[in-house]
Amino acid sequence: MPTRDDLLRELRLTPTWRLRTMVPASADTAVPSLPAASESAVASAGPETLPERGGGDARRARIAALEWPDFAIDVAGCTECELCRTRRNTVPGVGDTRAEWLFVGEAPGAEEDAKGEPFVGQAGRLLDNMLAALGLARGRNVYIANVLKCRPPNNRTPEPREVDACRPYLDRQIQLIRPRLIVALGKSAATTLLGVDATIASLRGRMHRYGGVPLVVTYHPAYLLRNLPDKAKAWEDLLLARRTVAEAAAPAAGDSARRS
Ligand code: URA
Repeated sequence: MPTRDDLLRELRLTPTWRLRTMVPASADTAVPSLPAASESAVASAGPETLPERGGGDARRARIAALEWPDFAIDVAGCTECELCRTRRNTVPGVGDTRAEWLFVGEAPGAEEDAKGEPFVGQAGRLLDNMLAALGLARGRNVYIANVLKCRPPNNRTPEPREVDACRPYLDRQIQLIRPRLIVALGKSAATTLLGVDATIASLRGRMHRYGGVPLVVTYHPAYLLRNLPDKAKAWEDLLLARRTVAEAAAPAAGDSARRS
């Protein structure tokens, strides 16, 4: 039976935090990030310059029909909520668009907003370590997305109307990727995807489903950076996730058509 210290070592999460070299996203599989909005464009996006909102059913139908080549472009043009006024870049997601693993976080922070890529700050470095401990890497059989595609000012918690506005994009990503497993990182992702208001402690440690897709809930990497003892629980969650992916892959081993 491995001790807690063994688990933390395996996850490379011993309490002394060290910056590690980031695993780069594979260039050929990454959803392209879009050029940063110029400072002047952001500054001039006053209320009068925002187009009419509330595409409603027509907008949802358009997003539900998006294919990858247009996905990031559509997100970049989104003005459905107020976050379009303050973002520098939209952050649609990154990774292998045919990945078995989909990790969903909350929303971009400052570094993600600057680069147009999710989880590139300190929490992202921890996420990369978590992936490495599973034998995975950003961009290789892994896709990383957020509930929100734009940064909330001062990294505040997303508002329900922002989550509602962005939701069709996440739904479409899941439809297009068809992952074998979703890992919800933190409360925003878990409660948004599961449609419940509950704590991570009450949701983790068991299997959920989003549509037909198995879903594991675990702590957000940013939370884990502040709460070292919970890293062992996060590792347990990731092992549950890994078992689920392995079991889901087994009966389909002969089904070469699924991902062709
Ligand atoms: N936190 C998130 O939830 N997502 C990011 O992309 C970065 C930090």
